[in-house]
Amino acid sequence: MAFIPVDIFAQIIRREIDADIVYETERVIAFRDIAPKAKSHVLIVPKADIKTAKEISKENGDLFAELFWVAKEVALKEELEGYKLHMNVDEAGGQVVPHVHFHLLSPEYDNGL
Ligand code: AMP
Repeated sequence: MAFIPVDIFAQIIRREIDADIVYETERVIAFRDIAPKAKSHVLIVPKADIKTAKEISKENGDLFAELFWVAKEVALKEELEGYKLHMNVDEAGGQVVPHVHFHLLSPEYDNGL
């Protein structure tokens, strides 16, 4: 998929476009990927305007930690015993949507790693 210059995840956060939201906190939202690569494929997205994981710092590190515990809660809801967390970092790293996110995938997903 080619890079999308528009932050569609911000539009989902603002409820301007629909998404299948499975979990939400004050700072994080989780919704199903529109083109699932596994039986369960959920995107874990901070609501703050952060484009890539390159923007992690001492100041916002706790928000990134929250992504991990939201992933754990979503996996519990999805009844996944184990799961994979995948992140593409920057367009050069395969990121298509310019808003930082984890992919939570059920274990049958295999990206060859
Ligand atoms: P990435 O390559 O890590 O940026 O992944 C972006 C992901 O967002 C892809 O897996 C897309 O299928 C997914 N995606 C794109 N548009 C939407 C949308 N409107 N709702 C849910 N997922 C989307």
